[in-house]
Amino acid sequence: MEYYVVGGSFTFICSKCGILKKFEGIQPKHKTATITCKCGNCARINLTVRCQFRIDTEIIAVVGDSEVYIINMSARGYQIASGVEKFTLGQEVDISWLCPGKNQIPIHDTCKIVNVSQSIYGLKSIIDLPHSQNKAKGFFLMP
Ligand SMILES: [Zn+2]
Repeated sequence: MEYYVVGGSFTFICSKCGILKKFEGIQPKHKTATITCKCGNCARINLTVRCQFRIDTEIIAVVGDSEVYIINMSARGYQIASGVEKFTLGQEVDISWLCPGKNQIPIHDTCKIVNVSQSIYGLKSIIDLPHSQNKAKGFFLMP
């Protein structure tokens, strides 16, 4: 089983009982982990760190009711351009976009506006994406 470490953390989902457990403070040197769940299931997993890459994009996303451009993104954030809708510092927004790739996975992220410069906004993700979305985004961000 492969898990993607984003921002030093990942959420383990037990394949036997379905319990979720978040692990934090993961270092890039950590490549594997053996996790024993409360239910007794023992899982050996591989860890892949995808946290520092920032790539330039030209992806159209929807934030609120408006279309915006994602100028670049990293595992934990986005830089967007919005000509119409204005956002304020500290505002929480939902951003939806289609992750390029053969499966075109829709990504639904919740972010906080952390930077405002004219029509350019910095967004920081404040949720953990579901595993499939996190995985798709991780592959997309891979250099
Ligand atoms: Zn379990």
